Amino acid sequence: MINYQGAVFRPPSEANSLILQATLGCSWNRCTFCAMYREKSFRVRKIAELQREIEWYAHNFPAPRKVFLADGDAHMAKASFLAELLDLINAAWPDVKRVTCYASPQSLAQRSVAEMEMLREKKLTQYYLGIESGNDDVLRAIDKGVDSLEMIRVANKAHAAGVKLSTMILLGMGQRALSREHAVDSARVVNAIQPKFVSTLVVTPVEGTPLWETAARGEFETLSPIELAAELREFLAHTELTGSVFRSNHASNYLSLAGTLPKDKNAMVTALDQVLENPANARFKPEWLRAL
Ligand code: SF4
Repeated sequence: MINYQGAVFRPPSEANSLILQATLGCSWNRCTFCAMYREKSFRVRKIAELQREIEWYAHNFPAPRKVFLADGDAHMAKASFLAELLDLINAAWPDVKRVTCYASPQSLAQRSVAEMEMLREKKLTQYYLGIESGNDDVLRAIDKGVDSLEMIRVANKAHAAGVKLSTMILLGMGQRALSREHAVDSARVVNAIQPKFVSTLVVTPVEGTPLWETAARGEFETLSPIELAAELREFLAHTELTGSVFRSNHASNYLSLAGTLPKDKNAMVTALDQVLENPANARFKPEWLRAL
């Protein structure tokens, strides 16, 4: 059987994927808002354990179309380990369409473009990258460990290797004081990266994180749904993307938007303008639904 260890997280678009925990925890584990792997120490799992899980799954279930390598930073494992794991996956399921994983900026920094290419050829074709913000003050405040220039540099290594990027921006992270700068600078960074996928989430202080403690002291302003809509509007208005899929469908969002950029940019900005002009008619998701 598959021996999942601790809480397992995956992006919304991996809902139908087989999840294999190639690594446990996150090698960085310091972002102030993130509660996902606080209870775990980062380690790479043994290839023999993963081989047994792949064999068990292959014996008991139909072949998966997609595989997601958990936990938070599987991309940090050595290229030789990932290559061996991908060989096992491809041998078990030759028709698997793609393998994906989260990739922290630190993991992208330590990996060469040649290694990414080699792994892409073994179907590790997409990384999920939490940009969170393009504003350096915000990135410093959340302890992301990189500034915006480094984020762009490492993301473009994946680009050079032909690996697709699915990127996340964290609305509300700049609080009121930096809301506009956060939106505009985040657009600047995604413009420089040109990721295949861009999504927005809404920051929510979670117990057990430094952000929770900051919020408990009354030192973190949570933006209202209208303020978040204004921030999203600024972000979208400043994007200059040439072919990206945009989604704000993560549970944390108050408004669910989806489209292709640049084709749907004006329509989404107009929809947000209408929300801002007439908030009473806006269909914000209720709080209880955001918690699900
Ligand atoms: S890099 Fe990702 S998983 Fe790790 S602490 Fe930051 S947000 Fe959480």
